[in-house]
Amino acid sequence: MTDTVLSIRNLTAFYGDFQALFGVDLTLQRGQALAIIGANGAGKSTLMRAITGILPSPAEAILLNDRPIGALSAPEVLEVGISMVPEGRRLFPSLTVEENILIGAHSRTGNGYWTLEAIYDLFPILKERRHNPGTALSGGQQQMVAIGRALMSNPDVLLCDEISLGLAPVIIRDIYASFPRIRESGASVIVVEQDIGQALKVADHVCCMMEGRITLSGAPEELSRDAIHDAYFGVS
Ligand code: ATP
Repeated sequence: MTDTVLSIRNLTAFYGDFQALFGVDLTLQRGQALAIIGANGAGKSTLMRAITGILPSPAEAILLNDRPIGALSAPEVLEVGISMVPEGRRLFPSLTVEENILIGAHSRTGNGYWTLEAIYDLFPILKERRHNPGTALSGGQQQMVAIGRALMSNPDVLLCDEISLGLAPVIIRDIYASFPRIRESGASVIVVEQDIGQALKVADHVCCMMEGRITLSGAPEELSRDAIHDAYFGVS
């Protein structure tokens, strides 16, 4: 196996006749946290939908551990090791915190690092609230449940779509404080963020998207504010 866990080559995506992604190239190294930033409509969620198999892709356009997965269905993508924390969290309102987390437990056990106890160790408040309905929690706690649920399949790649949206800065800090441990577990991480400052803080590598293309890519310390501004908003 190479040090590349996920490789995307010349990926295109369509909604009917509308082309939403144009030849996207992206590499996620093992153990890396990669942030994808971009304004509304840039194509970030479409890229997540393609990676997770919700949108069909050419098989060879997406490789996980050198294996083509572009043509797999969403359940198959989960099975081979990619799980997602969806935008808006999408907890089951009639289920408890614990039941919501356990829904993520899957036939795939990966390296077996993540168990219910490991999730409670990562987010102790969830253990206290484990019998409460998931939707009775604060927004930040619900986000922790969504992250816990996604980790229960012991993914090689964890995708986080806009996890800081609508949360207070102190809560966002608490959520991102879990990332070092998540990476230690062996998961590589892609975060989709509209908050550029947050993305630069958590990521080893940042890709900026605009109009379905990656317009800038590099380590946070290599990217100037002007370059990010131009890649995010376009050069006028
Ligand atoms: P946001 O931050 O608002 O979620 P985004 O960067 O995730 O934006 P996408 O949601 O991927 O952007 O949208 C990319 C383009 O695809 C936009 O022009 C959008 O209007 C279009 N699009 C997204 N979903 C659909 C859909 N289901 N049908 C048709 N077009 C869509």
